[in-house]
Parts: sequence; C-alpha cells; structure tokens
Amino acid sequence: MSMAQQLPPEGTDSKDDAQWQGESRGLQQEEPLIFEIGRPGKCGVDLPEPSSRRERLGPLKREGSIGLPDLSEPEVVRHFVRLSQKNYAIDAGLYPLGSCTMKHNPRLNEKMARLPGFADIHPLQPQKTIQGALELMTDLADWLKQLTGMPAIAMSPKAGAHGELCGVMAIKAALEARGESRARILVPESAHGTNPATAALCGFSVSAIPAGDDGRVDVAAFKEQLGPDVAGIMLTNPNTCGLFEKDIIEIADAVHEAGGYFYCDGANFNAIVGRVRPGDLGIDAMHINLHKTFSTPHGGGGPGAGPVVFSEALAPFAPLPYLVHETDEWRLIERAEEGDAQPFGRMTAFHGQMGMFVRALSYILSHGGDGLRQVAEDAVLNANYVLEELRGDMSAAFEGRCMHEALFDASFLQGTGVETLDFAKAMIDKGYHPMTMYFPLVVNGAMLIEPTETESKESLDRFIAALRDLSTAAKAGQVESFKNAPVHAPRRRLDETTAARKPILRWTSE
Ligand SMILES: *Cc1c(COP(=O)(O)O)cnc(C)c1O
Repeated sequence: MSMAQQLPPEGTDSKDDAQWQGESRGLQQEEPLIFEIGRPGKCGVDLPEPSSRRERLGPLKREGSIGLPDLSEPEVVRHFVRLSQKNYAIDAGLYPLGSCTMKHNPRLNEKMARLPGFADIHPLQPQKTIQGALELMTDLADWLKQLTGMPAIAMSPKAGAHGELCGVMAIKAALEARGESRARILVPESAHGTNPATAALCGFSVSAIPAGDDGRVDVAAFKEQLGPDVAGIMLTNPNTCGLFEKDIIEIADAVHEAGGYFYCDGANFNAIVGRVRPGDLGIDAMHINLHKTFSTPHGGGGPGAGPVVFSEALAPFAPLPYLVHETDEWRLIERAEEGDAQPFGRMTAFHGQMGMFVRALSYILSHGGDGLRQVAEDAVLNANYVLEELRGDMSAAFEGRCMHEALFDASFLQGTGVETLDFAKAMIDKGYHPMTMYFPLVVNGAMLIEPTETESKESLDRFIAALRDLSTAAKAGQVESFKNAPVHAPRRRLDETTAARKPILRWTSE
C-alpha cells in the first residue's frame, strides 16, 4: 500500500489549492516510501565478484531476496534528509506537549557531550581509565541529591518509566526485608499510564484514587483506601493536571503510618526545582527525567535518563551498580558482596546514559542553583500567562493558578461539532504542533499545554493568538475546516483507529 496514493477524505475537492498530497510544493519535496523509490538491481557501489568463495551455509543459504530496497547513494541521502525535514522539532518551533517538557536544549550541553573523553569511552573500559567520567557521574548525583534533599540515588535507570520500575522494586525489596508482602499500590486517576503499569509489572494490584473537584487527590478517598495490604502510593507532584498537591505531607504521613512507602513521579520536577525539596515532603523514592527537567534531548525514541533518588528507608535497596569514592579513586560497585547494602538487583547492563549525564550536568552548572530556581519560576509564569490569556476563549479545566502547564477541557467546544482531536489537527495548519490531548483522563477532552520556560513572550503571544483564532472559528461554526484539518501537512488525517487496530508493519509490493 502506498501512502503517496492515499486518497483525500471523502467530500474534499482534490483540486483544492490546499490539497497537495503526493505533490512537491515550494521547495518541499513529496517523499514516497523508500521501497517505492528503489528499483531492483540499482546499487551505489561497484564491487568485483569475489573470485573464490566456498559456500559454507549448506541448507541455511537464503533462497529469496532479502527484501531491502535497491537505491543509489544520493537517493538514500535525499530520502532521509527530506524525511528529517518533515520531522517537527523543538529547534523548529514551540512544542506545547504537556507533561513532555519539550524545551530548548542548550548547545553548550551538546559541545560538552561531544568531548572525546566522554563521547568515546566504552562501558567495558578499565575503571582506572574512566575516572573523569565516574567523577562527573558523582558530581551529577550530588547535585540531584542536593536539589531533591534525598540521601541516595540510582543513576542507572534509562527513562522515567524505568525509574518507576526501579523505585517500586526497591519498595518491594524493603517490604520483603521486613518479612512482608503487600498486595496493593494506590495510584491517582490522573496519573501517567506508566504508574499503574509499573505497579502491575511488579505484581501489585492497582487501586485508583479519585480526583476531587479541584483536580487534586481526594484525601478522604485516599485514606479510605489505606490498609495493611498497601505497599505504597505513586503520586505525581505537581500532578498531571498541572496542579500542586497541597496535601502531600498529610498523604506522606498517612501512607507511612500505614507501613507503606511513598513513590513520587518526578516527571514534573521542572516546576519546583530549586524551590521545593521533595525529600522535605516525606517522599521515599522519586525518578528525575533528565530529558525533561534538565533539558537533555528527547522525542522520537531518543535516549533518556531517569535517575532515582531514595530516602534513608529505601537507600539500602537501591540497585547495582553504584559509585563509591575510595582513597582518590572512584569505583563502581558491581556486586552485592562488594558493599554492605542489600541491592534489589541490577536493571541495566551498564551504568547509565553517559551523554545524558554530561548534558544534564552541563545544564545544571551553567544555570547554577539560582538559575535552576528561575527555571521553575519562569516555567510556572509562562504556563499561567497562557492560561490567563486563553481563559476567556477556551475553558480552563480548574479554577485558580496552575504550575508549569495549563490545562483546558473541551467545554468551550460544546455544541460546535468540533472535538478536541479536530482542534489539535487544526493547530497543525496554523503552524503549531498540537498540545497533549485527552490526557489527563480525569478531564473531558483535555488539552494540556506546557510552554516551558524557554519560550519568549513574543512566541507565546503568537501561539495564544493562533489558539484564539481557532477557538473563534470553532464557535463561528466552521466545523468543516476543522474536520478536514490538517490540509497543509505532507499527509492528511490518518485513520488512527485502523492504524492502531490493524497495524501494517511491513511493506509489501502487492
Ligand atoms: C514523561 C512522564 C513519565 C514517563 O517518563 P519517560 O521518561 O517517558 O519514561 C511518567 N510520568 C509522567 C507524569 C510523565 O510526564
């Protein structure tokens, strides 16, 4: 099936100026699939047939073709360069995805990460040859412990979700060390999907805690759920509605009193870094998405890093490997017998994402303590600016101020025939990547906008004006233009349901 031949949706005029599916326009090249460009036998190199070759594969020798496209080198280069230019990126414009913290990645970080002493080391190199790298990890670890007010850290988890797994495995190990096995973990309804998934993967059942009318955990409902079978709570603060959980200390005390542990999803740490130390709030474990709060690049499956900080209670159970400093030397402890802790095990082959560590430390050092505090303040200021400017045009999901992200619901679209999905698609025609939609689940038709601290007022004003225009158009009954959107993108709206239910993962020529 060829994407280039995809027909415009019914009811649209294919001669319309805006329909340019399958055509080049301006200097934007239409780009078919690589399989459609290739021709059998085309080859970028000219190698002589090997003169003597002995077949040693016997019956294992491949009979048919390998099924890869045949192309020349310039065709390959152009194909991938063109595709890369269709890819939206933070370096191309505002990226309002809530919860994702898509912010500018300073070039200084990249320069540091490319220093050969960091970029070219190998994880199996003798430790005495990588002392500088180990020292850098220790420095970063110290900053993260300082900023969170937590005494211990695991640097090896590779992402936020991986950090959650690390934290909940430590909780499980701590309970086992007490001779207990508890069955349930409490997770608020507004949580990121990785929270219940992590709890379930670790063998716990998940009890949902409802949100109150103010978008925060309903403390009474939470307390009702507590009991001797509760291993802990997984709570995000600020939560995914962009609101600070004001009752967090009461929640922490109650969960501890019931013998459970407090896991905090720290994905939104950028809203409070330098202002609040999670350790002071009674948290036992929290992951930090270096690729969100500390600006390292992400998206498109790029590398992340999700170090986890631990309280005194969970510190002994942190995973291998961990770093120690002994008489002028940094050393990775790789086996439980080498130390006196009770690590729950090991999560990764190697210690961590070195490039991410370098970038994060570079970001931290270039901001300094006061600069990081300002990061949080500006992130919150920008989100509140968006929220207040759009309050009259769109519908804010909750009363009052927000933290680092502005959450709207779909009630301003009620009766227009336009839905959240249409609104998001129409943003593409306006030159904006859509915000996060339909998340968090506790808000009807949610639209979650996280401008981050790195957008200027001018850039926010342009974005706000675009959303205002769209809101006005929706209310003026221009429902057709929303249903057809996007018209200016290289591809029209895809049938996402079929794509999800019946994914075609292999190209075939039929
Ligand atoms: C991003 C995010 C996660 C998961 O982090 P990854 O690094 O993508 O695995 C978990 N919780 C929240 C609230 C998030 O925003």
